[in-house]
Amino acid sequence: MPRIPDERPLSPQPGIIDELRRRLPTASVLSTPAELAPYECDGLTAFRQRPMVVVLPETVEQVQTVLRLCHAARVPVVARGAGTGLSGGALPLEDGVLLSLARFNRILHIDPDNGTARVQPGVRNLAITEAAAAHGLYYAPDPSSQIACSIGGNVAENSGGVHCLKYGLTVHNILRLTLIGIDGELFEVGAEALDSPGLDLLALMTGSEGMLAVIVEITVKLLPRPERAQGLLAAFDSVERAGAAVARLIASGITPAGLEMMDNPAIRAAEAFVHAGYPEDAAAVLICELDGFNAEVSFEVMRVRELLLDAGATEVRTARDDAERLNFWKGRKAAFPAVGRLSPDYYCMDGTIPRRELATVLKRIEALSEHYGLRVANVFHAGDGNLHPLILYDANVPGELDKAEDFGGDILELCVQVGGTVTGEHGVGVEKLNQMCVQFDSDELTQMHAVKAAFDPHGLLNPGKAVPTLHRCAEFGAMHVHHGELKFPELPRF
Ligand SMILES: Cc1cc2nc3c(=O)[nH]c(=O)nc-3n(C[C@H](O)[C@H](O)[C@H](O)COP(=O)(O)OP(=O)(O)OC[C@H]3O[C@@H](n4cnc5c(N)ncnc54)[C@H](O)[C@@H]3O)c2cc1C
Repeated sequence: MPRIPDERPLSPQPGIIDELRRRLPTASVLSTPAELAPYECDGLTAFRQRPMVVVLPETVEQVQTVLRLCHAARVPVVARGAGTGLSGGALPLEDGVLLSLARFNRILHIDPDNGTARVQPGVRNLAITEAAAAHGLYYAPDPSSQIACSIGGNVAENSGGVHCLKYGLTVHNILRLTLIGIDGELFEVGAEALDSPGLDLLALMTGSEGMLAVIVEITVKLLPRPERAQGLLAAFDSVERAGAAVARLIASGITPAGLEMMDNPAIRAAEAFVHAGYPEDAAAVLICELDGFNAEVSFEVMRVRELLLDAGATEVRTARDDAERLNFWKGRKAAFPAVGRLSPDYYCMDGTIPRRELATVLKRIEALSEHYGLRVANVFHAGDGNLHPLILYDANVPGELDKAEDFGGDILELCVQVGGTVTGEHGVGVEKLNQMCVQFDSDELTQMHAVKAAFDPHGLLNPGKAVPTLHRCAEFGAMHVHHGELKFPELPRF
């Protein structure tokens, strides 16, 4: 089944474009085909749709105006940050307004004493760390897209990154949000303090994929830069051994700042791309970063080296200096574009599994790769059990995209089968709607629809994304779910 947004009847209201032009500065409303083209997709480029109109407001009042107009005319609205999302969350709607927050790009205040910053949603993730550096502080969650992605998008997706193993996801690194509801009402959730009374609406808003409200300001936590960061790179002759080493390392009580794994196809692609000196014959490498006070890091480096060698590493390198540590990361951070050179197209999946299942799941993915006749490279946040299989395909070969999608769907269902989830950090968007039917039963989905309706009774904010309709699940379930058990058609079993 193609992963398209849930169907809804279209109700084009072209009159709203004139109304928007009357209320916003001329340069803030785009509607010609050439102006709309750059907004027709996000990072999930297989899905494209031009919006009816794009608006680029610059003030909170302008966002309120747009939402009030859309609310009154019952026009759907899709918020957009930098458009780097990988699950189609910012995919526009043919009869909808695309609300870009790109011009909300100011860091409003840095409070070094409290370790916080107030920022607008269009600020780039990395720009927060750059601005905080003068105070010896940084913003911990670091998606690989951090040079481009916006903090508003990070909140809406609850994004993760290499350092989230030790420091938590976006939800653990924000304190307060200012939002605007579909009726134009401005409201705040969370507080400057670590806890706030009442229901935890901050957590509810984080990861809500633009379905509940539009974020217009964020208070983030800033952390002191660690005194020292040390990198290690371990090679393994089997993926299973590398997976088992991850579980042992975490169980030892040491929490690395980052612990990432790449399998052989990913190692070779990254090496060819950035020449980081990776062992190209290894079946898998683990890249581990330890940070903290000098003495603590020295002790942990010794322990981690022993643990990795004990777990069967064929080689463990300790970075001699910061340049070598960054070199270890260079290939990992560039792994997606590097893999992009192996094939005309790739499809990046994102699922999470319990760490103990790493080896089994990687074996199953290998078998699925043979079953579908599509190559796959694995790059992932191993410490978190967050997988990113990159499925290689050629969109110009008829049927390959469909095969890649089915392959990806099977991987996500496999994640659920072993006790994991269908998303680790990239969100559901349009991509994983079907797998949400596998993860949740109809009662749970009904509750999610009820929460959405409480904030957005007419279903105007990013409709058709993130939470599937029960109708869709009924259709999909007839194919894949039987007495609550997943059936994998013609898949090899282990
Ligand atoms: C090469 C590459 C590497 C990546 N690596 C990672 C990674 O390591 N970890 C990770 O988590 N992700 C990663 N991503 C995915 C992506 O960068 C993140 O999901 C990011 O948070 C999206 O931010 P954005 O500003 O581009 O949001 P967009 O793509 O514009 O939007 C994403 C979602 O957020 C909603 N949204 C955006 N802004 C707002 C707002 N102000 N108010 C309400 N809703 C809003 C949109 O409606 C949409 O549903 C990667 C992407 C690429 C292309």
